Amino acid sequence: MNAPLLAPSEQELLRQVEALLAQERYQDHPLRDALARLFEYSEGQRERLERLIKISDGYHSISRSHSQTLTEQYDRQLRRLEKLARISDRYQNSLRELSEALKDAALRDPLTGLGNRRFLMERIKEETERANRKQAPYSLGILDVDHFKAINDQFGHETGDKVLCEIGLAIQDALREYDLCGRWGGEEFLIMLPETPVAFARQVAERVCLGIKEVRVNLHQEGCTPPISASLGLTQYRFGESFSEALNRADTALLQAKAAGRDRLEVA
Ligand code: GH3
Ligand code: MG
Ligand code: MG
Repeated sequence: MNAPLLAPSEQELLRQVEALLAQERYQDHPLRDALARLFEYSEGQRERLERLIKISDGYHSISRSHSQTLTEQYDRQLRRLEKLARISDRYQNSLRELSEALKDAALRDPLTGLGNRRFLMERIKEETERANRKQAPYSLGILDVDHFKAINDQFGHETGDKVLCEIGLAIQDALREYDLCGRWGGEEFLIMLPETPVAFARQVAERVCLGIKEVRVNLHQEGCTPPISASLGLTQYRFGESFSEALNRADTALLQAKAAGRDRLEVA
């Protein structure tokens, strides 16, 4: 008899029964047959129970190891997801930086670093709305470098580029902090003075023209610097008109400045 699952008293009982059944003198006892069958039945039941317990133990250990691997898999997937999230964050950041750089490049003149014509148009539109809303007019000036073709021809295109950059700096120096300037195209620049009536704008514009006349560029030929001046057409925005009407007026004033001999300011 091998009955590891039984308590010692139960094992003792089984041993007693087994011994009784084996005794010669009880072979013909009327209860012996019934006891033998009861013993067999009990042994059968015990074996069945042991098999069930084994199966259940096996199932538990399988499910334990299975759940362990599931946890590991889950952790691994979690780590992978975290890594993916980090990569995606970096990717999104560089996309954001790239789109900001693209936006900046689309609105900036690469030579002078000033805002380009597109940037200026956006700002003029905004400023026009603001001027009407606040009933505070802005002034607008278009500035064209005088005889710039001659500078290019005489000193070379590279010197011409340098002159344009220096002019850009000179204009910025002469403007107030909240004024705006940009490259309108070629050797033309635009200045916009928010909330500034033309009488005040004229003083700022005169300072701009003076600043440009002081521009010097280093040339290979010592002591030889191209004479630099600009003509400027200035106007004040009139409430209710479109910004292109103001632009046209500034352009007309510029033509008048050119026709009157250049190196001067005309107010429309
Ligand atoms: P005006 O006084 O009538 O304005 O004469 P101008 O010579 O300045 O005008 P014009 O329109 O005859 O010539 C403009 C020149 O500006 C021609 C063009 O090659 C030059 N230019 C335009 N953009 C650039 C640039 O980015 N760099 C250089 N170096 N030259 C430029
Ligand atoms: Mg021009
Ligand atoms: Mg010119």
